[in-house]
Amino acid sequence: MLKFVTFAVKTQLNVHDLNNEAVAGNVTDIRIIEFLDEDGNHIEAPAVSGRMLKHWHYEGMRHLIINGAYSSIPLCAACKVGEPVRPGAINNNNLRQIAQPEGNAISGCAVCDIHGYLIAQGAEGEGRGTSNRRASRAMFSWLMPVLGYDTTQKQVIHTRVSQQESVAEGEGAAQMIFNKSYASGIYAFVSALDVDRIGLVELNLGNPNRYAIDDNERKNRIKVAIEAYRLMLSGQIGASLSHALPHQNPVEVLVAYSETGPLPFPVSPMYSDYLEKTIGLMPEGTQFLYWGSETPSGVTKKNTIDEIFKELLSKI
Ligand SMILES: [Zn+2]
Repeated sequence: MLKFVTFAVKTQLNVHDLNNEAVAGNVTDIRIIEFLDEDGNHIEAPAVSGRMLKHWHYEGMRHLIINGAYSSIPLCAACKVGEPVRPGAINNNNLRQIAQPEGNAISGCAVCDIHGYLIAQGAEGEGRGTSNRRASRAMFSWLMPVLGYDTTQKQVIHTRVSQQESVAEGEGAAQMIFNKSYASGIYAFVSALDVDRIGLVELNLGNPNRYAIDDNERKNRIKVAIEAYRLMLSGQIGASLSHALPHQNPVEVLVAYSETGPLPFPVSPMYSDYLEKTIGLMPEGTQFLYWGSETPSGVTKKNTIDEIFKELLSKI
């Protein structure tokens, strides 16, 4: 059975605003990061934080659970509505973070289980003597420009359309115009999913049951965590999906998986030789699935991205 999966993804994104994290006045500024090329030269370019990627993986799972074929999977009150105060419950009409034993948090919510949590000291509930921190089973790098390609960014002016027949000049009119930045580039990210530890109780002293949930529930959670990557590969990774869907064009996907134990993280596709290096890094017995235009040795080349997902899902 599947124990660990890594993803190394290269994709083109044209005219996206995935990294509009800073807002100053009526200008939404784009996030610029500094990094080095393979020769050690300084570069500045738009990039998207791993927090954003993790958030959109979570949104993908939430969407599939609430609206899809995984509706039997439980979510806590916080994860159901997309609030970051997990594990949460509604007390007196207020959504609050609730300290609770790890096993309860896991069995009550797939997102608390898979994405982890940090219970603040002031949280309500009976959390004493239990772990108040659960590490995420899904890990994400930043989305970074692939070295050797151009990146572009452009600020454009938008005008909000008013429903009123006439807008008074002055105060009202000033709020109608705002600036937004959009970026384009060929990007890379890596991610790892620690499948074996989904449902696992970390502080499980003397209990023969390693997992807080039964086998069927575990399998469903693993499936939904993997299917959420498919949504990410389709470009569902932005806050402006109603009016700025990224023009996404996947270039390469390399998946490594193991049925025996944890794997190292893959070398990032932002580097030109990531395929050989990743294959050379992984331990014996690792399975490689590849989609793209290269024909690397030691990997199973798939005709579609869907074939990669089908093989992963068949190992659960
Ligand atoms: Zn939750």
